[in-house]
Amino acid sequence: METFKLEVDGDGIALATFDVPGKSMNTIGPKVIEELGEIVEKISSDDAIKGLVITSGKQSGFCAGADLEGLGGSMAPSAGSDQEAALRDAFERAFALNRTLREMETCGKPVAAAINGLALGGGLEIALACHYRIAANDNPKLQLGLPEAKVGLLPGGGGTQRLPRLMGAQVAAPFLLQGKSMKAEEAKGLGVIHETAPTAELVAKAKEWVKANPNAKAPWDMPKFRIPGGGPESPMGRQVFSVGPAMIAKETWGNYPAQKHILSCVYEGLSVPMDNAIRIESRYFLKTMMTPEAKGMVRTLFLSMQALSKGASRPAGVAPYEINKVAVIGAGLMGAGIAYVQAKAGIETILLDMKQEAAEKGVAYSKRILDKDVSRGKITQEKADEILARIKPTTNYDDAKGVDLVVEAVFENPEIKAKVTEQIEAQLGEEAVMGTNTSTLPITGLAKASKRPENFIGIHFFSPVERMGLVEIIMGEQTTQETLAKTIDYVLKIRKTPVAVADHRGFYTSRVFGTYPQEGMTMLTEGIAPAIIENVGRMAGMPMGPLEVSDSVGIDTMLKIGRESAKVAGKSYDDDPVGELVAWIVESQGRVGRKDGKGFYDYNDKGKPERIWPGLTDKFDLTVEECPPEMKQELIKRFLYRQCVEVARCFEEGVITDARDADIGSILAWGFAPYSGGVCSFMDMKVGIKTFVAECDRLADAYGDRFRPNDLLRDMAAKGETFYSRFPPAEKEAEAA
Ligand code: NAD
Repeated sequence: METFKLEVDGDGIALATFDVPGKSMNTIGPKVIEELGEIVEKISSDDAIKGLVITSGKQSGFCAGADLEGLGGSMAPSAGSDQEAALRDAFERAFALNRTLREMETCGKPVAAAINGLALGGGLEIALACHYRIAANDNPKLQLGLPEAKVGLLPGGGGTQRLPRLMGAQVAAPFLLQGKSMKAEEAKGLGVIHETAPTAELVAKAKEWVKANPNAKAPWDMPKFRIPGGGPESPMGRQVFSVGPAMIAKETWGNYPAQKHILSCVYEGLSVPMDNAIRIESRYFLKTMMTPEAKGMVRTLFLSMQALSKGASRPAGVAPYEINKVAVIGAGLMGAGIAYVQAKAGIETILLDMKQEAAEKGVAYSKRILDKDVSRGKITQEKADEILARIKPTTNYDDAKGVDLVVEAVFENPEIKAKVTEQIEAQLGEEAVMGTNTSTLPITGLAKASKRPENFIGIHFFSPVERMGLVEIIMGEQTTQETLAKTIDYVLKIRKTPVAVADHRGFYTSRVFGTYPQEGMTMLTEGIAPAIIENVGRMAGMPMGPLEVSDSVGIDTMLKIGRESAKVAGKSYDDDPVGELVAWIVESQGRVGRKDGKGFYDYNDKGKPERIWPGLTDKFDLTVEECPPEMKQELIKRFLYRQCVEVARCFEEGVITDARDADIGSILAWGFAPYSGGVCSFMDMKVGIKTFVAECDRLADAYGDRFRPNDLLRDMAAKGETFYSRFPPAEKEAEAA
């Protein structure tokens, strides 16, 4: 066998060591299932074998679950004329793991899992099909869970059936629907594992159990088995399964098929014996896998994220850049956050501001986060002190001598930024990268103040820095591929995901994201009630309504940017209905947004929105106060299609060049409908390019040319292309050369 090593000891107990060759962690693909089947066959047919222990040969853990890279290809029904046969065939492949695990569970001999570390998804499902589970109590990285729902999938190896039979449907719900994971002790308390022990003793203890329990059976194969809390028809079950769908609808607005399927699958499966239950699960598994949501989410949230976090978009041919010391100039909101993530990643940080007091205030930001982490037991005081000691607050540029990289985060003012660039560059070696965190100023313009514009680059963080996973890297006209590679090394070192874009107004993220609040405000000027606008925004899958988003960004900031952009385009912002609304709310009503407690919403003293500001009703003649389903669909389209059509323009103008980057950027930077897998996946799979173009034309006729599809979209529709076929992950090697 390739993926397991099988040895039988003197007592006749077989030990299967799971160890997929060439990988640092075990994952499950067709070969693993096939070989697990061989092991089960051997155990059940060989009288000399008394039982089985399964463990892992990987130090990193037991098993991380299905090999998602291979999953789509190996499961999808093949194209062809006999669709029924293709579906039957696809079902058999989807059912293979379930069948094998059930055969293991009913092989007539005891089977135990010795779980040395992380066991997720299919990894936990293998363990759940064993009669006994013992897990390491000395491995802080050990986690047990079924995270499938997080990437739009349904656990398909018996997890939806065995977990609720162990802990009850209500207790199992957050583990199945939200993909929550558990530590060993919690798992023991919930009855998911039987025992914990030090790693070194796991196999011996598992073998002892096997020896002592020759007639082991799964609890659900015992005649008197009862589901904890009762089955679907018990009083508790009725409550769970009547309230459950409403709760899911409230959380997901019906956008996530996986959650809905999981609940149905648990309900139907718990009503029948295990042999039927796992067939029901495999049907729902296949059905879920074939949704555009699952395909988009797996691709973006798992495969692309993994690829980018390993540096897939880094130009090849540039030696890895060691980043040990970095200067952050400006210790305000952004600078303080950047200093924190750097120090946490082990980088010696110089935090420079105009006054020592301001620089120290920046360090206090890190201290607040670290104190909270210590009080919650997330890190030790010693570790927190170590991190804090890496940040040196200062006003003296000499302290920044010899840094490997600079992130300038002073006021958004080109003159101030130019001055700071000159001052800091005097301290830099030839190799150092000069980055700016500007959110709106063109990089090529700012690079004029630099003596080495080829080393000058935009490093655009999002707020709050410690929580936002994306960093948008902006290439100036003269920025080299080498500078890009070094910047990607920096972003990866601070454990963020880098996406590189070209230097156009608003770059990629701000430009596209800005269309969402803009569309919301347009609806307001049309007389649509703000509550409808806000609710429909969230129903579309956006994390906040567009008016709340405007408050968070700052309506005054939007006014400033709006006026500047209009000036560049030779237009008058204030003559536009939305421009007039923004100017009115800021300048005549003094409402600038959340930071001041009043904007489109009124906020309480904790910064939480209390109610939509009633003054909006006085200003506008609100003619639309009810929202029937067709109208809801139309407004959802306006929100999502408006953003996507702007993405297509970004591709046409070369602002962004890679569909994978566009998708990841859209979800991580502004939370674009995560169920879709991002903007490109939405157009490619959820809608289809041809339909998208036709619908955008219709929307443009009805609401304005901002929806009009560009030539690129029309060309793609004519050729039957998708964003992923036209803009596949770029060949970085060729580019660098
Ligand atoms: P801020 O006003 O909170 O902080 C700016 C800091 O820079 C202040 O502490 C100020 O004292 C310091 N400073 C100003 N001039 C200086 C100089 N000559 N030398 C040293 N320090 C100086 O601003 P912020 O929100 O942290 O924004 C900083 C930059 O980041 C801006 O370019 C902004 O556009 C960009 N940005 C902001 C956000 C955001 O959400 N706030 C997001 C992305 C990017």
